[in-house]
Amino acid sequence: MTELASWTAQDTEDVVCCLCRVPGTLVHDVAPFGVVRCPQCELVFISPRLRPEALQRLYDDVGYFEGGVYGSAVSSAAADADDGAPSAEGGWSPAMLLQRTWTAGRLALIDRERGGAAAGGRLLEVGAGYGLFLAAAREAGWTTSGVELSRTGAQHAQDTLGLDVFCGQLEDAPLASGFDVVCAWDTAEHVPDPLSFWRTVRSLVADDGVVLFSTPYVSSLPARLLGTRWWTLKPTEHIWHFTPRTHALVLARAGLALTRVIRSPLAPANAGRLDSLVGVARPIPGA
Ligand SMILES: [Zn+2]
Repeated sequence: MTELASWTAQDTEDVVCCLCRVPGTLVHDVAPFGVVRCPQCELVFISPRLRPEALQRLYDDVGYFEGGVYGSAVSSAAADADDGAPSAEGGWSPAMLLQRTWTAGRLALIDRERGGAAAGGRLLEVGAGYGLFLAAAREAGWTTSGVELSRTGAQHAQDTLGLDVFCGQLEDAPLASGFDVVCAWDTAEHVPDPLSFWRTVRSLVADDGVVLFSTPYVSSLPARLLGTRWWTLKPTEHIWHFTPRTHALVLARAGLALTRVIRSPLAPANAGRLDSLVGVARPIPGA
């Protein structure tokens, strides 16, 4: 994982609110980055933030996923995922158990949101990582497609798991629209422009389709209590910080209605996560 201290002001650029196109007001100085809040809509974002080239270097770092919430279990899970068997050195670690709980909980949530309809149809995951969720979705009966910015993650998903994963930004992916389900687990906080991201998702999901996502939220208790010590602040990677209200604003502008928010850390789809939520959104008719 690249350390914060190794980035300088030359690696950064100033950005404006993706909704209001105005600069934010400083909330926390975490030089060379700044945590700012839009004076109009209250969306929190990072400015200055890493330039796109610096961001690509960060995501291509082979250690990137190992520094995240999954811990080192992800690499062993990724190594095991082809046969699904737990490994002796970490298959049943707490991180791995969480990963499995999220995957099962999220697949069950998709079924519930579709009125109990059997799995099947086209499912797109944006931010597919190593492809673990996508492999489970395929196992459940979905025809899957994925998009992942990290070359390390995308390569594993393609070569080891045989998944159809495009390496790059969603806006550049050659995808046919009409997906029944679009998932974006812990992704919207990473994208260069969330409005453009959700508009692209809207163009890809079927009119009767459903969009499911997870994201940290800045109105959570840990975020409010801990300030700059909030473990999820990560100003290099997490460049947008939503609340349910600001996320609903961005989604609505993109033609999507936020129809459900799951904040409980006891819900399987959000298990153990005190500072994150799972959201469900649907296309707004005519939008
Ligand atoms: Zn704004």
